[in-house]
Amino acid sequence: MSRPASELARLDVRDTAGVFAARQLGRGLAAALALEQQDQIRVATALSEISRSAVTAGRAAVITFGIDDAELLLIVTMDGEPPADGIAAAARLMDQVTAEGQVVRMTKRRPPGVRPDPGVIGEQLAAVQPRSALDELRRQNQDLITALEDLRQQKDQLILLNAELQETNRGVMALYGELSDELEQTNRGVVALYAELDEKSERLRTASESKDRFWANVSHELRTPLNSIMGLARLLAEPAPDGTALDPERLYQVELIRNSGSNLLAMVNDLLDVAKAESGQLHLDPAQVDLPALFGRLRGLARPMAEGKPVEVIVGADGDADTPATILTDEVALTSILRNLLSNGIKYTDQGEVRLNARVTGPRLEISVADTGIGIPAGLHDHVFEEFYQVPGVRRGGTGLGLPYARRLAGMLGGDLTLTSEPGRGTTVALSLPLRTPAVGTVLLADDDAAFRGVLTGLLGGLAGRVIEAENGTQALALLAGDPVDLVLTDMRMPGMDGTALLARLPASVPAIIVTGADEPAPPRAAAVLRKDELTRERLEFTLRVVIRGES
Ligand code: ADP
Repeated sequence: MSRPASELARLDVRDTAGVFAARQLGRGLAAALALEQQDQIRVATALSEISRSAVTAGRAAVITFGIDDAELLLIVTMDGEPPADGIAAAARLMDQVTAEGQVVRMTKRRPPGVRPDPGVIGEQLAAVQPRSALDELRRQNQDLITALEDLRQQKDQLILLNAELQETNRGVMALYGELSDELEQTNRGVVALYAELDEKSERLRTASESKDRFWANVSHELRTPLNSIMGLARLLAEPAPDGTALDPERLYQVELIRNSGSNLLAMVNDLLDVAKAESGQLHLDPAQVDLPALFGRLRGLARPMAEGKPVEVIVGADGDADTPATILTDEVALTSILRNLLSNGIKYTDQGEVRLNARVTGPRLEISVADTGIGIPAGLHDHVFEEFYQVPGVRRGGTGLGLPYARRLAGMLGGDLTLTSEPGRGTTVALSLPLRTPAVGTVLLADDDAAFRGVLTGLLGGLAGRVIEAENGTQALALLAGDPVDLVLTDMRMPGMDGTALLARLPASVPAIIVTGADEPAPPRAAAVLRKDELTRERLEFTLRVVIRGES
């Protein structure tokens, strides 16, 4: 028989009274070892169950009560095999239960730090008197009540915990609600802001349109009476048919009227040009422009402007072999820009020279007009491109519309205008124009007219890497979804989805050119408009240069 390290008591169990005694002793030992009340009940119940199972099976058992280093130790030795139900019940109540042959060994961990005196405990156990069955029943009932009470407390605790958890949940939900409210409010704010921005830009657009309309109308209205005034002044200045002439004083005054009239007319013409350019009414007619011939004409135009001034006007290419003889552009617009720059150069130069020069820089042609004139203060280089702006203190006629107009025209030609200047040394304004047509990857054609698609495909030969075709907007969008497209050419009128609807659904990164047979306004999203009846390869190339800028 194995023995505990320190045996404190021993009990013979043969009948029900023995079972009660085992329970009582077990509980006493557990209490003496300062086990919790729950554990005291567990130890007592385990002993009671194992003893009961032995007595029920007609066996006798000897129980030794003892302690180990850290445990309460019970060893039950039977005169036959210990019944399984007793072992199973004990196993649920003790920390460890092992059965080996006729011996069942059960342990329960005891609180550290309690050092019982084996002698004293032995005496206590010896003093435990066997009780009556009724006493034992009462005792067991008490244990049950305690266990139930304990359960209730645990349940109460659980309820409390649950309530706390619910409270926390409510807190989290409230926080979440607050956050989503805030997010919703912010979102509403952003949406409102966007709507306001849209509305503002729409208002700006209409304001700018009505301004352009206003200028165009006013200019027209002013030109007619101005022409009459100047015609009449000319008549007045000439001798009458009867030979009478104005006296010199009157003649001088009439000349003043004529001069003021012609200044006013120049201004009105400038205004009309700007208004036309801004409203997109300026019709460009691209062709191969002969540069030496153009420079010749400009020379003829500019030299008289410098008459009476010690200013030399030099117009022409530097004899640079790279400079091409022609450039694909609109001759009227190009002449207008260069005449403007030459006129400024001469106007703001008192002595020295004004030189127009052309040279090739990379894929572009740069035509610069450099003067040795009064120059422009550093902070004003951007301002001189604003409409009606003139450098303060330097009034030499003019309207302040020349440079902004020239820059707008340059943009329409796919180019740009830059200015460098130093007060007292001179000014250089350079116009840079695309020399080559950029290579376009995939072009999507949308037109219900198969024959015209054929014409366009032919014109795009050598310009586009690949051409894909659609009969209407719906088909075009389907193709776009599967294929990266670099440029869209679309008709306006197509059965099904038309050009306007297609453009509204196009990704912003894909430029679109309208190719239309009808004379109707193109949607603002269009990068350019080509008319079918005047479509030539030159026009197409020129438009590509303007639309696909920066890649050339
Ligand atoms: P303007 O009809 O007054 O010449 P522009 O728009 O052509 O109008 O030019 C705006 C202003 O820029 C001019 O009023 C002038 O003050 C200044 N400016 C333009 N070109 C030159 C230049 N070559 N040299 C000095 N100042 C210039």
